[in-house]
Amino acid sequence: MPFVEPHSLQWFFIVERADRAFAQTVRAMIASEQSCEICSLCGFPPLGDFHLVEAVTIRREVPSLRLCECCLVERQFAGETLVAVGGARDQGGHPDHRGFLAFWKRITRRLN
Ligand SMILES: [Zn+2]
Repeated sequence: MPFVEPHSLQWFFIVERADRAFAQTVRAMIASEQSCEICSLCGFPPLGDFHLVEAVTIRREVPSLRLCECCLVERQFAGETLVAVGGARDQGGHPDHRGFLAFWKRITRRLN
């Protein structure tokens, strides 16, 4: 599945159909923060965008999430498989594998 930018029109188009309550929650957070640059789950400043590869607690139709560090770690403990889309906003949406590895090291260091 091609990467769909979280909180974009296309993303809402998909998520509205998959999980209406979730889409409405995200819309409300974006309205109150007056920014799309928020975590999809809690509204905090995000770490980056993540492609949802294998969903466990989140509807599998949801293509991607914008997550803060806490929500990312929580989702990973829940068993979700997420792939970081590094530099999505300054490199035209191309996945940045090196960026992801640096980020992954940072997360695992935090947990150990
Ligand atoms: Zn969050």
